[in-house]
Amino acid sequence: MDTNNGRSFGEWLRDQMRLVDHDSLAPYRARILLAMGAVAIALLAPFAVNHLVQERWGVALALFTIMLLTYINVRAVAQRRPPPIPSAWLLLPFVAGITMSVVVQGVPGILWAYPVVVYAYFVLTRRIALLSSMAILAYVTLLVAALIEMPLALRLFATLLLTIIMINIVLNVIADLHRKLENQALTDPLTGAYNRRFMEKVLDALVARAERQPLVASILMIDIDHFKRVNDRFGHDHGDLVLKRVVEIVASRMRRSDRLFRWGGEEFLVLLEGADLEGATRVAEEIRQSVAAATILSEQAVTVSIGVGQYQDRQDVDGWTRAADVALYEAKSSGRNRVVQATMVPSLAQ
Ligand code: GH3
Ligand code: MG
Ligand code: MG
Repeated sequence: MDTNNGRSFGEWLRDQMRLVDHDSLAPYRARILLAMGAVAIALLAPFAVNHLVQERWGVALALFTIMLLTYINVRAVAQRRPPPIPSAWLLLPFVAGITMSVVVQGVPGILWAYPVVVYAYFVLTRRIALLSSMAILAYVTLLVAALIEMPLALRLFATLLLTIIMINIVLNVIADLHRKLENQALTDPLTGAYNRRFMEKVLDALVARAERQPLVASILMIDIDHFKRVNDRFGHDHGDLVLKRVVEIVASRMRRSDRLFRWGGEEFLVLLEGADLEGATRVAEEIRQSVAAATILSEQAVTVSIGVGQYQDRQDVDGWTRAADVALYEAKSSGRNRVVQATMVPSLAQ
């Protein structure tokens, strides 16, 4: 996700916008609310007392209200209950507090705008935080322009905007790391194909959905022919390279909605949603030909055998993959470097 790996600025920007959707702080929200709330109450208390002593009733009341509302939420989170006051609503008393502080005290009151903007990003989803921080930015700038002076308003605008941009950059980096971690848990490190654990999840979900609505989907069971010989003749490292090349070739023949999983060893499964037996067989044939034509090793032909299975009503995941595996076995026993279709139950075949 660096900007310096050859991608255009436009692509980088699109990535950043996509990440805006990624709420990676969600699992930590309770912890953030608790810490931020507790510290906010502790820090606000002396100011509230001071205003009280100085008989600035309005600001004192605003601060005590903010502390009370924050306390209600912090207490709930500490007791593992959802916070009763939606975090976004709390922005209203916060902004009211900033307003009163600016009205009563002038310039020092402006400083509260900074933690309030940070608060928004830490407790709200990204889109809502973006909207509210922009609204706060516009509001406090106008407030200061109207009540104090334009040069200060402009500087407030610039510094607050810079703060907002910096928060967004940091949160995007976190979201990016989060996605990388998620991706690592799903993929096979050698080939980059999805791993078997994720495959089971995807297929289970697909078959569960098929109980409610008709499913047209096929799988390709792909196995590299005589792969053991590659390892034996050229060593395990060369074997690994062949695996990677085959995965690249298979991936280049797939549509965006298709998914490639490493079933294990030198066997792969491609899931083609929306493809019937004929469509899937065409894809399998293209894959087979591309691998055979690729001359991955100059000294030895690298080919694949493929079993194709279309999902049939009431089949479970096991039945489906077994049918494709039987077809693959047939492809092997009939000479390798070929594609074989699993037999369809006659009543279901079209
Ligand atoms: P067939 O045409 O019948 O599929 O023969 P084959 O030799 O491909 O099949 P077999 O199952 O006998 O051998 C598979 C080999 O794949 C054995 C194993 O050492 C090798 N293998 C499995 N995983 C890896 C891997 O991650 N890297 C490498 N280099 N080899 C692997
Ligand atoms: Mg093999
Ligand atoms: Mg095998």
